[in-house]
Amino acid sequence: MIDTVDLCKEYRMGDVTVEALRGVTVSIAAGEFVAIVGPSGSGKSTFMHLIGCLDRPTSGECTIEGVELSKLDQYQLAHMRNERIGFVFQSYNLLASATALRNVELPIMYSRRPKDRQDRKERARQALEAVGLADRVDHRPTEMSGGEQQRVAIARALVNGPEIILGDEPTGNLATEQGQEIMAILQQLNRNGRTVVIVTHEAEIANYARRIIHFRDGLIEGEETADNPIPASARPPAPDN
Ligand code: ADP
Repeated sequence: MIDTVDLCKEYRMGDVTVEALRGVTVSIAAGEFVAIVGPSGSGKSTFMHLIGCLDRPTSGECTIEGVELSKLDQYQLAHMRNERIGFVFQSYNLLASATALRNVELPIMYSRRPKDRQDRKERARQALEAVGLADRVDHRPTEMSGGEQQRVAIARALVNGPEIILGDEPTGNLATEQGQEIMAILQQLNRNGRTVVIVTHEAEIANYARRIIHFRDGLIEGEETADNPIPASARPPAPDN
């Protein structure tokens, strides 16, 4: 589903070059639930941006569902991002002036098959229902709790029917209980067959995943699966962010 080979990303700022990723090779199969953990600055977000088609690597390969991303032009890349991948960000990124329904409709309008207005509304309504917000469709972000706003963001991520859901600190702004609700929704989406990859610095959140990949200094330092945890004695120090 998601394959990277020797993925590298450098950021140039004037004379300074930051090596955010220094050769990440990983394979994530369809239907997996993966958490990426690691200290601040270890390259987690950069990795998510590359597999999410939001940015291009400096070198190395990234293949999504058998398509090598470097072979796509910017329009094909945008299409891949809009149709095949659903994004959930820490800060929800909702349009403040729009209702929940309108926010969820937006990705349909940008897709190649916008369909008619009624159909669009129906699909958006169903996505909101799927995250338990059937009774909040006409609310604006300011009229909702953080957890509800994040659920709107998940509905928006789902509405074009992507196979992959990516979350960059999806519970980062939420109180524990609301964060757990969001993770339960992501877990359910995964049980329904979607591939879910999240970045988190919270061990409790990472534990919802079946596989945890540890990043450090732009590299994969190790990984563990639900069936094969790293023994406490060999576990790397807790992430510092
Ligand atoms: P993490 O998500 O693990 O905190 P990031 O992927 O955000 O790590 O960052 C990895 C490194 O790349 C950091 O040193 C960060 O400062 C740098 N970096 C990230 N994005 C940019 C950017 N747009 N421009 C310059 N440097 C960046």
